[in-house]
Amino acid sequence: MTADIRLFRCLSDNYGVLLHDPDTGATAAIDAPEAPPIETALRATGWNLTDILVTHHHADHTGGIMELKNKHKCRVVAPAAEAAKIPGVDETVKEGDKTKVGSLTGNVIETPGHTLGHIAYWFHADKLAFVGDTLFSIGCGRVIEGTMDQMWSSLKKLRDLPDDTRIYVGHEYTLANIKFALTIEPNNAALKSRAAEAEKQIAGGHFTIPVTIGAEKKENPFIRADIAEVAAGIGMSGKPANEVFAEIRMRKNKF
Ligand code: ZN
Ligand code: FE
Repeated sequence: MTADIRLFRCLSDNYGVLLHDPDTGATAAIDAPEAPPIETALRATGWNLTDILVTHHHADHTGGIMELKNKHKCRVVAPAAEAAKIPGVDETVKEGDKTKVGSLTGNVIETPGHTLGHIAYWFHADKLAFVGDTLFSIGCGRVIEGTMDQMWSSLKKLRDLPDDTRIYVGHEYTLANIKFALTIEPNNAALKSRAAEAEKQIAGGHFTIPVTIGAEKKENPFIRADIAEVAAGIGMSGKPANEVFAEIRMRKNKF
């Protein structure tokens, strides 16, 4: 059977998500921003928390781990490179590793940039990817610990996932990201229709995710840095994609 997902809000703008395997009953929280909304989601679904899959060490992704682990005795999986900064880790993973949630299999993809050890979990058979703070809808994470080049490489790895992969991101930043993206690509028709859709979603109290990789490839300027029109639009025609990406990221920092 295919995986079930429960998506909900945590803290001020984080997303919490539960991934459930109906065959075995296993349920993973992807990151643990804080325990209470995760407990609420578990009660609402009747699912039993068996695993926490951590994308990176920031407190808004790890703050709920110990409270959940103490209560549910769940397994905590975390990036090897950041395990020392994450509480309660049982298993560390790195590029190319696989981790299981019941019978569901997630591939670990290293996506350094936002933090040096940041990872994403790609559940290939279920066409799902949990990308933490590397890729946002119409945006990307701040480059805090790594370099712009690392972040650009990481985003390209996620962009290379199949177009029908549904991505779950760490934060609800979509409207602000769209506002910025329209300054980079004011004539992008796909982006403009996405803007209208996202405004409707937010106004209706809905989430703007998941989104597909295929849609992001048409709308997200950060993963379009190697498209000629994007470079031209910011006066960088002919410049290498990593430099175009860095310029877009720096403009967003100041936006
Ligand atoms: Zn973060
Ligand atoms: Fe975050």
